[in-house]
Formats: sequence, structure tokens, C-alpha cells
Amino acid sequence: MSKTPAETTVSGECPVCAARLFRPSSVEETEMLTCDECRSALVVDRRVDGLMVLGEAPRIEEDWGE
Ligand SMILES: [Zn+2]
Repeated sequence: MSKTPAETTVSGECPVCAARLFRPSSVEETEMLTCDECRSALVVDRRVDGLMVLGEAPRIEEDWGE
């Protein structure tokens, strides 16, 4: 966390908790990721240079035990 993100990183904002998330620029639209802060399941809605627009992943019926 001491380095400023390089150009090879894209940032986006968690729609749930507004945390700033950084991911490698290889991230693709529709890719799923998990918020570092609130652990919400998110999906990359759109890629705009240097940024990713995140949405909440559609809820899937699942029962994952911890
Ligand atoms: Zn979050």
C-alpha cells in the first residue's frame, strides 16, 4: 500500500461500501471480484480507461459454509 498505483492498475469504487479498489488492468468486463473491504461480490460492469465501473454481482442461490 505504499506505492501509487501504476498505469497497469485500474481503480473502481465499491457500490456497497464505497471503498476504492485496485485491480490489474487485465481485468475484463463481466469479471467477478470481491470487495477488499466489505467482501461483497462485485462484477466489472464497464471498463473506462484507468477505471472500472463496478456493480453488485447478481445474487445466486448458494449456501457456502464458512
Ligand atoms: Zn465494499
